[in-house]
Amino acid sequence: MRPRYILIFGPPGAGKGTQGRRLAAELGLAYIASGDIFRQHVEAGTELGRIAKEYMDRGLYVPDEVTVKMVLERLGRPDAERGAVLDGFPRTLPQAEALEKALAERGAEVDLVFYIKISEAEAQRRVQGRWVCRNCQAAYNLETNPPRVPGRCDVCGGELYQRTDETPETLRRRFEVFFEQTVPVLEYYRARGLLVEINGKQPIDAVFRELKAAADRVFGRIAGSGSGGV
Ligand code: ADP
Ligand code: AMP
Repeated sequence: MRPRYILIFGPPGAGKGTQGRRLAAELGLAYIASGDIFRQHVEAGTELGRIAKEYMDRGLYVPDEVTVKMVLERLGRPDAERGAVLDGFPRTLPQAEALEKALAERGAEVDLVFYIKISEAEAQRRVQGRWVCRNCQAAYNLETNPPRVPGRCDVCGGELYQRTDETPETLRRRFEVFFEQTVPVLEYYRARGLLVEINGKQPIDAVFRELKAAADRVFGRIAGSGSGGV
């Protein structure tokens, strides 16, 4: 079977990471989040992390060249052989083109694209309570999705910390950048009939049920006919 690729779009705090991890586990695909990889580099103190942090802390996108190279390398690893759920990539049209080309080289294409929508007010509330695992990057929320043990990750026991790019001002900027640079990418996938919009304000389980139902529709069809589309 050819590899399968699902993209998850949404403004900051929409729940891309929360849902993407779960969906990838459910479908047996790799979960790849460009923001997580950047944060791992920042934590490890690499040169890439130093460059990325300058942009991240200002709410700006890291340059395409750097981002594309990093994500395509990750997509080529063995655990992504069956495909992947991509969270936060592509965020610009050049990134989308680079992804398309790389997938075509392995006889694959983007199969399904989700847009999880939430308001900026809801995002501000959520990211204020967001805590992220230093080790595996899983996200928690003190109000809506608390860890079982305070300050510790349920998945790996890692220490939880708060991101440095979540001040109200930075979040405002990240929303603007999302609408300016990433909504055009969404429109591109909408025009190809791949986009499924989801109301992200629902509880976590309700959002997941919608994502899973859409994935089952699309992949059921692919399994039956060998073609993509929603
Ligand atoms: P994104 O990856 O889109 O930035 P996250 O998955 O990190 O978003 O979620 C943002 C914050 O909101 C986290 O603290 C997470 O625990 C919480 N969260 C995610 N989905 C929901 C939801 N449907 N309802 C309430 N809180 C949520
Ligand atoms: P996220 O964890 O997805 O919210 O991403 C955090 C930050 O990482 C973003 O605000 C950007 O600075 C950077 N980033 C993540 N993914 C990308 C991408 N595809 N293109 C450019 N910058 C990115």
